[in-house]
Formats: sequence, structure tokens, C-alpha cells
Amino acid sequence: MAYSYDDDNIFARILRGEIPNDTVLETEHCLAFRDIAPQAPEHILVVPKGRYVTYDHFALEASEAEIADFTRTIGRICADLGVQPGDGGAGYRLISNAGENGLQEVPHLHVHILAGRRLGPLLAKG
Ligand code: AMP
Repeated sequence: MAYSYDDDNIFARILRGEIPNDTVLETEHCLAFRDIAPQAPEHILVVPKGRYVTYDHFALEASEAEIADFTRTIGRICADLGVQPGDGGAGYRLISNAGENGLQEVPHLHVHILAGRRLGPLLAKG
């Protein structure tokens, strides 16, 4: 399976420093920044620095170090926001849209972290 990655996508440009972003956290392999059109009081995007299009692409081709960093970065941001249910937080939702049916707008893997209000049903009618 060959994944084709568009180096001109907006998150690639953010990672190259060509477009500003509201950074929350940067690690060796990831950048986390606030969504420009927030859908909840807390709406943060976590992106790997590598050239991955979707979560499945990342899962198949990323290194163990990249996968560990990405996963731990998401956990660390949830902890920093104080939203982990296991620690008295009010909870959150993770979303990663992929491809046409997933309505993915930006073809660089990202996980949305949404928190700060009751988020409603998982899916709206398409
Ligand atoms: P998706 O449909 O999962 O691909 O969502 C892409 C997300 O990227 C949307 O929630 C947009 O609001 C967000 N977005 C697009 N451009 C930017 C940007 N320059 N900075 C931050 N977020 C952005």
C-alpha cells in the first residue's frame, strides 16, 4: 500500500514554520497547537512531525519512538488540561478523521482533542 503525502498541506507548512500557530506543546516527534476554528472550549490538534496522512498510515509506517511520543503527547495534554476522568476531570473526546468518508480536510495525520463542555452525540447525520 502506497500512501501519497502532499508536502503543501497546511500542517506541513505549519511544521516548516511557514504559517504561525498557537503551540500548546512541542516534543521531538510532535507538535500540538490550538485549532483555528475551535468546536469546544478546548480544541487542540496533535500532529506528528513525520509525513503521515492518516492514523492507519502512521500505525503501519511510523517508528516505535514516533508512536510512543504521539500517544504520550496526547496523554500529557489531557493531563495538562485536567480533563482525565481517572483524576477527577470531566472528560474529553479524541477524533481523527481520515479520507473522504471521514471528511478529512487536512491530509496530514492529526488527532483532535476536544474538551471543556458536554460534546453531544458521537456523530451528526451525514
Ligand atoms: P479535519 O477535518 O480533521 O482534517 O480537520 C482539520 C482541522 O484543522 C479543522 O478543525 C480546522 O479548523 C483546522 N485548521 C485548519 N487550518 C488551521 C490552522 N492554520 N491552524 C490551526 N488549525 C487549523
